Amino acid sequence: MSDQGILAVVSGFSGAGKGTLMKELLRRYDNYALSISATTRSPREGEVHGREYFFVTEEEFDRMVREEELLEYARYVKHSYGTPKSYVLEQLQAGKDVILEIEIQGALKVKEEFPDTLLLFVSAPDAAELRRRLTGRGSESGEVIRERLARAKEEAEGMDRYDYLLINDDLDACVEEMHRIIQAQHARMSNNRRFVERIRAELAEC
Ligand code: ADP
Ligand code: 5GP
Repeated sequence: MSDQGILAVVSGFSGAGKGTLMKELLRRYDNYALSISATTRSPREGEVHGREYFFVTEEEFDRMVREEELLEYARYVKHSYGTPKSYVLEQLQAGKDVILEIEIQGALKVKEEFPDTLLLFVSAPDAAELRRRLTGRGSESGEVIRERLARAKEEAEGMDRYDYLLINDDLDACVEEMHRIIQAQHARMSNNRRFVERIRAELAEC
């Protein structure tokens, strides 16, 4: 058993399928805790406060920033998004593998603060499929879709700073690959300091 849970960040172009992948990963395996972000954007149809996001006002968001309740936060296409800190730290200590589904600026801030964070980047197989998925979801106006595709171009510039690339073509294969990559992190030496200390102490007694 490694020291604590794995902190994994999942980023990717809007419409790549991150939300769909997360839902499926959590349905299949029970050691994951998905962090629920706060956002100032409005809920999409079917989204529930406290399930997909904590939907908050600009004032409430600013208060969370001021009172240092957020692990990181960033602006994305005219809205603010941030990760509540206490839940993430509690779940990691309880041994859960915690997933943050956040954009790239936030991902890099988390990596700076917690260098062992695993950075995963999800993409659709090609740009035409990405546009199809984003349009097919039917939840954003044409203008917002254009803005999100423009943002994707910027994110593509930074995607090679991530540890792993996941191409979400076949959903089932992508979920399993994500699970394998995260679970492999439990064997990292840096996540097994307690074991190292214990075996050293035991050997010293031999
Ligand atoms: P994101 O959270 O990355 O913005 P979503 O999970 O909302 O993306 O997915 C965008 C759209 O693409 C949704 O309509 C979803 O059903 C669809 N989708 C997700 N994964 C796949 C896949 N592997 N193949 C085809 N369509 C997919
Ligand atoms: P959406 O509006 O499609 O749900 O999310 C827009 C973008 O914001 C996505 O790239 C998503 O990963 C990112 N995002 C969601 N929550 C957070 C968060 O707490 N912090 C940061 N930095 N990005 C987030």
